[in-house]
Amino acid sequence: MAKIQVLSREVADKIAAGEVAERPSAVIKELVENSIDSGATSIEIEVRKGGIEYMRVCDNGCGIEPEQAETAFLRHATSKLKNIEDLYLIGTMGFRGEALSSICAVAEVEVITKTKENEEGVFLRLERGVVTERDSIACGEGTTMIVEKLFQNIPARMKFLKKDSTEAGYIADVLGRIALSKPEIAFTYICDDKEIFSTSGDGKLQNVILKLYGIDHAKGVIPVDYTEDNLKVSGVIGKPDIARGNRARQTLLVNGRYIKSHVVSKIVGEAYRNSIMVGKFPFFVLDIKLPPECVDVNVHPAKTEIKFANESRVYEILHHAVSNALRAGKDNATEKQPEHKTDKNTETVHSILAMPKQSCKPSFAEPERERIEPKLVREYLDSVIPEKKEVKKDEVIFSDFNFLEDVRKSDIRVIKEVDNVSEQGTDPENEEMFERIAAPSPLGQVFDTYILCQSDDVFYLIDQHAAHERLRFEELKKSYYTKARMSQILLSPMIIKLDFGEAQTVITNLEAYSAFGFDIEDFGSGSIIVNATPISADENTIRDLILEIGDAISGMGKHSVADFEERALDMIACKYAIKANHRLNLAEMQDLIQKVWEMDNAGIRTCPHGRPIRIEFTKDEIEKLFKRKL
Ligand code: ADP
Ligand code: MG
Repeated sequence: MAKIQVLSREVADKIAAGEVAERPSAVIKELVENSIDSGATSIEIEVRKGGIEYMRVCDNGCGIEPEQAETAFLRHATSKLKNIEDLYLIGTMGFRGEALSSICAVAEVEVITKTKENEEGVFLRLERGVVTERDSIACGEGTTMIVEKLFQNIPARMKFLKKDSTEAGYIADVLGRIALSKPEIAFTYICDDKEIFSTSGDGKLQNVILKLYGIDHAKGVIPVDYTEDNLKVSGVIGKPDIARGNRARQTLLVNGRYIKSHVVSKIVGEAYRNSIMVGKFPFFVLDIKLPPECVDVNVHPAKTEIKFANESRVYEILHHAVSNALRAGKDNATEKQPEHKTDKNTETVHSILAMPKQSCKPSFAEPERERIEPKLVREYLDSVIPEKKEVKKDEVIFSDFNFLEDVRKSDIRVIKEVDNVSEQGTDPENEEMFERIAAPSPLGQVFDTYILCQSDDVFYLIDQHAAHERLRFEELKKSYYTKARMSQILLSPMIIKLDFGEAQTVITNLEAYSAFGFDIEDFGSGSIIVNATPISADENTIRDLILEIGDAISGMGKHSVADFEERALDMIACKYAIKANHRLNLAEMQDLIQKVWEMDNAGIRTCPHGRPIRIEFTKDEIEKLFKRKL
């Protein structure tokens, strides 16, 4: 065996740095936590090129004493912990005294800092952990840390970093969660000279949610405030309709500190059982407050994991807190809003097998979503178009009033394109998908969901949604794999507001979207313009579809590409397929039966998820049921 040696400071720091400063977002987290600990009320974060090139965190906190500036960068130098007992009673964010020494081992760091008591501030520059410059400097109270050229001296680490935009997204995610944990601090995040978000620091969680996730989230939350034993659960949970396809919008805080916990996510999910679909995750920002001796946050170097002393009890109380809030939320909703009813008999049904040629109207109004009156939009459009053009109702719907302002500032291409864009769609009917064979006639429909028909001695029940979804899925798959055009250009492009993370996913995957028939462009400030879509649908459906595909792209690591493609095609098919509880006329039923028979002939007998399209009863079986036969 080799001789045991004590590692040099440089090597030891690099190892520690790997734990603490794993990627730009981890560095940002440490720096911002230091700013929070310094008592700052306002923190500005700026990054360039995903933070790999440049990161700056500027706070108005207490600053560092001039004679302490160098000490702060020493390993295990901390002003927050003096002995081992303190480890368990820690109220501040950082306590290991490792962050600054780790960061300056793997990057070039500059610090400008001044305390209230000092007339002048200090400027320090460190390269590879060594101070190369020191000066006094005139500056305001607080601290600015600049970290440049991260990992440039460690190529192996550099390789582990993702695309700039992905790293910037991770930073947005970390900062979002920190902002949610500290509504009383004003945070501004600037990425490549663009302001991504800015919170006001007014102490209101709902306002932070509004800034990060938009109006439907801010309005779609239910407050949680629950105490049992010595444990308090507070924050908000989302109403079922803002649940998403992944856990990115679940934030757990323990004593105000952001923690990752799959168990907690599961327990919250449990409380929502039966109110949200399988595969959807509820929105929440929850803070569990309990005596510090009941938690050990020291299990993970980056401090994002946790162990509770009496775990099962903590989870039980959490479950109570969420279930109670959900129940209270429901009670409120029924008190305030009479049940929303649609009269399906008077609803017109599109010819289900013919591609509708225009955006269809949403079949129900979403009460939570703030929409701009189509009339207002029309008036606006009229006022900006020199010669009056007819703009169809409901086709330009801005989800946010600010966007009118944005549109006004940008060119008015939304309107211009109305002119030269012809309304078109793919017409899968042009080319027969399957061999044409004879099919029976419909006898009728039951429960507005199942079509009945008979052929010879067999009686059939067809699930209209399963059948239509599979048909759409097969058509889409064919267009996709033969690279046939599968999109239709919108008469009026949709402008859709997303949050930074969502917009980032969409914008960095425009090619994938275009393969699925979308034509999307970046519209800046987290919004996108959708010029073409694979299906005709209202804006809400298109938005959901874009986000669902985005969620699938984000989770693609876990699936093969082919698997992802089929899932995405199925999402599109499902959105467009005729639903259950939808009355059909005889011609529509006939069309669908025809396709079911043709698909059956081609060996296709289930929906994309494996549920049967049709079930059958022979005359024999029916006679036995009626005891006509034994
Ligand atoms: P820790 O946060 O665990 O104490 P760090 O390496 O992150 O260790 O920071 C070392 C010390 O530097 C802190 O304890 C604090 O005294 C000082 N410090 C770091 N950042 C700031 C800041 N933004 N404002 C004031 N003091 C700071
Ligand atoms: Mg720290």
